[in-house]
Amino acid sequence: MLDLIVVGGGPSGLMAAISAARRGESVLVLEKTDRCGRKLAITGKGRCNITNSEPIDDFYAHFGKNGLFLKDAFKTLDNKALEAFFRHLGLATVTERGGRVFPESQDAHDVVQTLLDEAWDQGVEIKTNSPCAAFLQNEETKEIKGLLLKDGKTITAKNYLIACGGASYSKTGSDGDGAKLAQKLGHTIVPLRPALVPLVVEGDLASRFQGVSLKNVRASLIVNGKSKKSYFGEMLFTHFGLSGPIILSLSEEAGAYLEKGAQVAVSVDLKPALTEEQLELRLLREIAALGAKQIKALLKELLPAKMIEPCLNDLKLSHETRVSQLDQKKRRALRSWLKELVFPISATRPLEEGIVTSGGVKLKEVDPKTMRSKIVPNLFITGETLDLSADTGGYNLQAAFSTGYLAGSQI
Ligand SMILES: Cc1cc2nc3c(=O)[nH]c(=O)nc-3n(C[C@H](O)[C@H](O)[C@H](O)COP(=O)(O)OP(=O)(O)OC[C@H]3O[C@@H](n4cnc5c(N)ncnc54)[C@H](O)[C@@H]3O)c2cc1C
Repeated sequence: MLDLIVVGGGPSGLMAAISAARRGESVLVLEKTDRCGRKLAITGKGRCNITNSEPIDDFYAHFGKNGLFLKDAFKTLDNKALEAFFRHLGLATVTERGGRVFPESQDAHDVVQTLLDEAWDQGVEIKTNSPCAAFLQNEETKEIKGLLLKDGKTITAKNYLIACGGASYSKTGSDGDGAKLAQKLGHTIVPLRPALVPLVVEGDLASRFQGVSLKNVRASLIVNGKSKKSYFGEMLFTHFGLSGPIILSLSEEAGAYLEKGAQVAVSVDLKPALTEEQLELRLLREIAALGAKQIKALLKELLPAKMIEPCLNDLKLSHETRVSQLDQKKRRALRSWLKELVFPISATRPLEEGIVTSGGVKLKEVDPKTMRSKIVPNLFITGETLDLSADTGGYNLQAAFSTGYLAGSQI
């Protein structure tokens, strides 16, 4: 009889399979789609941000209150060990801005292929187009007796692992099966919500800037008029609202407050490096230099071209206004536009569009030292199927790899 059946051929499932097979266990991976690692292949805009180079102790905070669940998993395979794992298999890595670690080839497919090659080398059997439909459970002991495939066939093993991912980007195969399978076996599911998802802005306040992408700005989450959290970095405007790394990082909290019926907005500071006073001095310098020119000449120095027209409209300034006509009142209005551009948020984009799924199998029901279910004796659960989600920077993949590796080493 097989030692282990892994359900899901994503990063977590493949890493679990490798880790178990290296210890001599016989392992079968069942993958629902026609190939493993479909989501992994599109991570990091196709470049795969594998992990982050910051100290592993700093990782926990990125997962919010659930972070410490990962302590044993990260102890078993931390970020340095993960890089060494790939290096050993011939995949060199490079570290970029913000400590983000990528394959040197800049191609996520190489990460998928490296995992597959190692799994095959270790004797792991992989069956694609093989979705798990259900588990057969002994009602008394709660043990899993077998696994039912969609084609009606049953297969059995000593242990089973659910590594089916979350419920977004469903074309990659992760469409919420993990939570459903675990729930049928008796696990509690923390409601699934999109995390790292774009935000929808009321009216056309953001869409009028559609296509503009901003660097070195600060976005703050404003809830019922109070600033809750802010991030510095890159963002962009779309036809529906706001997206880009710093917006995605605010999105989970934005979604939670929207659900509670709070008034949610994002305030963008286009000049975060300048205080109000410094910005005023800059404006005065520009006014002295550009004096008789039209106001557009000044705004060109301060804004991307596509934002100039809406700025003039909002400030009720005509094209004919001369730079020298910017009196104290008009300068105050311009400063406030540049430092506090507010976008009321009506919703998050749907779960399908979340880079990660928040919610999932309740962590209290899984042993963090082994990833073994506390409800079903021969079941392990890893990766994004668990109630774990972090912001961008390589943390989510590290969690998927580490929990998979730990489970595989315990079977
Ligand atoms: C566009 C995008 C970009 C991202 N970029 C990054 C990044 O750069 N860095 C980072 O850290 N994170 C990134 N993430 C998040 C990261 O991809 C996930 O957190 C990670 O893939 C989760 O790994 P997993 O193995 O748990 O699940 P998944 O990668 O979702 O894999 C689950 C697998 O299980 C299979 N499956 C599902 N149901 C069944 C079933 N019933 N039977 C058999 N198989 C099944 C699926 O087909 C899938 O192959 C990104 C996500 C997206 C969507």
